[in-house]
Amino acid sequence: MNAPSHPNVTEKSAPLIDPFARAITYLRVSVTDRCDFRCVYCMAENMTFLPKKELLTLEELDRLSSAFIRLGVEKLRITGGEPLVRKGIMTYFEAMSRHLASGNLKELTLTTNGSQLARFAQPLVDAGVRRINVSLDTLDDDKFARVTRWGRLPQVISGIDAAQAAGLRIKINVVALKGFNEDELFRIVDWCAERDMDLTFIEVMPMGDLGGEDRVGQYWSLKDLRGQLAQQFTLQELDERTGGPARYVRLEETGQKIGFITPLTHNFCESCNRVRLTCTGELYMCLGQEDMADLRSPLRASTDDAYVEAAIRDAIKLKPKGHDFDYSRQKADGQVSRHMSHTGG
Ligand code: SAM
Ligand code: SF4
Repeated sequence: MNAPSHPNVTEKSAPLIDPFARAITYLRVSVTDRCDFRCVYCMAENMTFLPKKELLTLEELDRLSSAFIRLGVEKLRITGGEPLVRKGIMTYFEAMSRHLASGNLKELTLTTNGSQLARFAQPLVDAGVRRINVSLDTLDDDKFARVTRWGRLPQVISGIDAAQAAGLRIKINVVALKGFNEDELFRIVDWCAERDMDLTFIEVMPMGDLGGEDRVGQYWSLKDLRGQLAQQFTLQELDERTGGPARYVRLEETGQKIGFITPLTHNFCESCNRVRLTCTGELYMCLGQEDMADLRSPLRASTDDAYVEAAIRDAIKLKPKGHDFDYSRQKADGQVSRHMSHTGG
């Protein structure tokens, strides 16, 4: 998108409302496409990553995130790739903490594989992060090494220990993989309860050819997973709506809250409050659609933030009503062209 010639400065502080009257208050920012793991459902073992010049610099990430916050974004989730492997990333978190201090930003959070938490838990707390999501699919050392290819479970457990010691509230994200972690369902539920961590299951999205002759697990529908949970627990449906694809239940016996994320469903679209920014400055208005807007060009075209704010407004006008489900389904056969590590899941 080219910088508009007459950016409308008067609109500057009006909130972002899309054509379907949804306020955009939640931005997910992928700060890198790189990762120290190679999870089988997310990446091929031999990935080619973006050249550095393609990436937004930390200063550009700050400028762009700050523009969104001026336009009414109240929640930032930092993701990737693995956000904590981005060099100097704490500078960005520290920069964002000024928006927490001003009250314009209500929450700064991240999704991480946990490998670097032992080092970064305290600095994250110091920057104002209070809650984080940690992705962890199995509690078995060997299986963990298989599913992440490069990850080691004890390192992640140490990271979780450090995060809890620093006072971070943790939600564990588990990708449901039939024949892989099916037999660990109750063990994972118990483990999260013992450590007072929230838990969410994610339905796996087929992401095309990831070079997986060592393919681990298969599609395990969350409907089936819920059914298995219901055999041992009484599930109380919760009304909680986050504007995203998560649904929650409470286990009456333990009081635990459990989430279910089915990324390809579209029954949440009418309340969708989020957009996704990639590490190259592409803004995706919908996880299930390919439409995106380039924000890097207007950002680099001028030091005047009015240009990029106008480009954000123009982009939000393109936010679709919802996923084109049939289209997603076609792609579910193995051709979703973007990796999760690109848009940040
Ligand atoms: N590296 C960080 C992590 O793993 O938490 C953040 C980025 S990762 C792409 C974000 C989330 O997407 C993780 O919870 C991961 O399990 C999930 N994910 C990746 N590929 C997926 C897929 N094909 N289907 C469903 N979830 C996926
Ligand atoms: Fe890395 Fe997260 Fe993708 Fe695993 S899911 S390869 S940890 S970005």
